[in-house]
Amino acid sequence: MPQKHDPSTPSTAEILYAARRAASLLPEKEQETLKTLLLRARRGDKVTVHILNVLSKSPSAQGWLQHALYAPPLNTRGYEGLPGDPVEIPARSLWRCPKCGFTWRVLRKGRPVPPCPRDGSMLERVFAGEAGNDVG
Ligand SMILES: [Zn+2]
Repeated sequence: MPQKHDPSTPSTAEILYAARRAASLLPEKEQETLKTLLLRARRGDKVTVHILNVLSKSPSAQGWLQHALYAPPLNTRGYEGLPGDPVEIPARSLWRCPKCGFTWRVLRKGRPVPPCPRDGSMLERVFAGEAGNDVG
């Protein structure tokens, strides 16, 4: 997937969050490596590059990560928007897969909502009060 020009580079927090959510897309061995790296990141080690490296070993994980971290071009419609009715995705909004319950939190306004990494479903917005305790 070609890298789009995006002035708002994902923060470390965004990358780490997306990496945790993308873990299930990796082969078992890489999942273990990723888990170790995420633990090191939590302790303050600068391992973001290594984390991205592990994720790049799986085309599906890498593609999903691109989708999750990089805003789509400005001229495309918003997520699930009606034609001509772009939807701006607010920061901190919570999204959930209607099939498997995978949840995703949009950390920064304007970020795209990725499809479910497990089954490819379009995620649905969860509004306050319906979130339960699984807030990713
Ligand atoms: Zn799902």
